[in-house]
Amino acid sequence: MDINIALKKYFGFDSFRKGQEEVISRIVSGVSAAAIFPTGAGKSLCYQLPAMLLPHLTLVVSPLLSLMKDQLDFLLSNNIPAARLDSTLTGEQYNKIITRAVRSELKILMVSVERFKNERFRNKLREIDVSLLVIDEAHCISEWGHNFRPEYLRLPDYQKEFGIKNTLLLTATATEQVTFDMCRRFNIDSENVITTGFYRDNLFLNITPVRDAEKKEKLLSDIGNAPDDPTIVYVTLQKTAEETASYLAANQINAAAYHGGMKNEERTDIQNRFMNGSIACVVATIAFGMGIDKNNIRRVIHFDLPKSIENYSQEIGRAGRDGKPAACVVYGNKRNLSILENFIYGDTPDREAIFQLLKEIKENGKLWETKLIGLSRDLNIRILPLKTLLVYLSIEKIIEPKYTYFEEYTFKYLINPKEIIEQFKDERKQFVQTILENCHSKKVWTTVDIGTICSVYQTERQRVLNALDYFYEKQWIDLHAGQAVEVYQVLNHSFDPELLTDNIYRLFREKEKTEIQRIHNMIRFFESDSCISKELASYFGEKLEIEKCDHCSFCSQGRMRLVSEDELKGLSELDNLHKLSEIKSLLGPLGTSGNLAKFLCGLNTPLITRLRAKKLPGFGFLEKYPFKEVQNWIESQADCSVSSQCPEAYTHERSESQ
Ligand code: ADP
Ligand code: MG
Repeated sequence: MDINIALKKYFGFDSFRKGQEEVISRIVSGVSAAAIFPTGAGKSLCYQLPAMLLPHLTLVVSPLLSLMKDQLDFLLSNNIPAARLDSTLTGEQYNKIITRAVRSELKILMVSVERFKNERFRNKLREIDVSLLVIDEAHCISEWGHNFRPEYLRLPDYQKEFGIKNTLLLTATATEQVTFDMCRRFNIDSENVITTGFYRDNLFLNITPVRDAEKKEKLLSDIGNAPDDPTIVYVTLQKTAEETASYLAANQINAAAYHGGMKNEERTDIQNRFMNGSIACVVATIAFGMGIDKNNIRRVIHFDLPKSIENYSQEIGRAGRDGKPAACVVYGNKRNLSILENFIYGDTPDREAIFQLLKEIKENGKLWETKLIGLSRDLNIRILPLKTLLVYLSIEKIIEPKYTYFEEYTFKYLINPKEIIEQFKDERKQFVQTILENCHSKKVWTTVDIGTICSVYQTERQRVLNALDYFYEKQWIDLHAGQAVEVYQVLNHSFDPELLTDNIYRLFREKEKTEIQRIHNMIRFFESDSCISKELASYFGEKLEIEKCDHCSFCSQGRMRLVSEDELKGLSELDNLHKLSEIKSLLGPLGTSGNLAKFLCGLNTPLITRLRAKKLPGFGFLEKYPFKEVQNWIESQADCSVSSQCPEAYTHERSESQ
């Protein structure tokens, strides 16, 4: 079928948008491609339409599965058989979806990258023919990208393992370096990379210097000009979102806060009310915006500096989708610079922790099993950097990921266990009986002891799993997998742990440097000596033909300088001394200078969560100070003393996602 006819037939659209036809024609003729279009430009159609024309399943991987609901709803409303495997599904729903995929009844299946490690899913995926692997937010695969997701590095292997011929990469924010990197991994030729450009002539990009103390008033007056215009205000910290929204609300602005620390229902409610216009202004951390498809947002205000040019571009990209003018204002002030930088330092593991891990691996046998959450806690490394560390070790050929299994399966009986046994005869009956006899029932949940079953019955783990799956398909039980155990093969036991620790630590320090550089590039960009729109386009590899855009602050007012506030008090001048050694002893064996500095800078780590240290005096006390300075200062303190009085009163609640 011709793709133009298919467009009308399946989606009711009259014409393609820019870039879509180029991408779709490649994909339907069996050529892998990458689509780099700005947010809202219509990337999803680039897989949705081919999915209808390709013989087998289209498998879509997204880091934001929960936010793909809109896409799923869109597909279902067009009667396209599509489904999403997410963690909220009941066993019955999960099975139904898998069965439809195996029977080739589904055209599109959306999964998270973690799903590939699930042994039950992997077993099923081998039975499913997949025509196309789609990777949404594909920049996550590149370490040069602003949102590197270590698990994404496994995707090229999965593609081979499951025999998927073609790939489609989708992203809105990729520099030339990132594009090159992601395409190289999937063997996509540069002629199959379709970029539509980022330039938006209806966005007024305004960088305006504002002192820290004057930001709130400035915000109120900016919004007060047109209080009903849909507006997003971006801030760095959750507490700033709360405070600022309250301040606006107290001044008769119809505003609400939105951040990762709020309950899901509350967030959904705010988002819905913003979408339907009953809230005019949302003051949010970066947790807000993904999947927001509201076309009449008139203002995006960066109350605090964004995290990177990529983030900036994505965040302002939500404004003015209707093509009408919209204002994108950055309050140029360097006050939150240390906070942004400290987030990065907080993700660099301690050298000691890396060493400890390497020793554990070295002393381990051929198969190394680990639970990420426990490991993260033991080493005091946040989950994301821990995953990065494991990826580094597999790149160094020390370990190789094999699979994930669930140590524990639990289920709820939906019928009486006796009835289940009665369904079988002879040997199978015995087997089923053995399984159920070796399950331990509590009030509601029953735990399966797979290890014991295997040894008692002298059988394979797989057979037990198949049986459980069968019970579940028959709706005799509702099955849940417990904590995941990651299994790695140790490829090399003869490494020198000291030497390798140095190497790996260096990689983290380089990564840290790149990330810090990213922030400084952004500052340079805001302060740039030429048209902001042109600079932004060129950052993403697009050359604008125009001399100046006439809708940015450079074109209207010239170069901007961000405000540098007065110097903070020198660390040695802080009074009200409080024993650093107390915090140190609280942190126990993990009380290194790095971990102490993380505590004082208010950076969340697994250790701090475990000790509930956020509530202790001194946590975040030096939040506005550069991490390195704090760490050096700690190391120089012979008497180990710090001030106990917080300079400002605030609550801390930083989550992984903000
Ligand atoms: P992106 O993923 O690039 O941010 P989406 O794929 O979510 O953007 O598309 C944004 C909106 O544009 C969706 O509502 C989609 O249905 C619509 N859209 C996409 N392509 C077309 C088209 N050719 N004609 C009309 N509407 C389209
Ligand atoms: Mg999208």
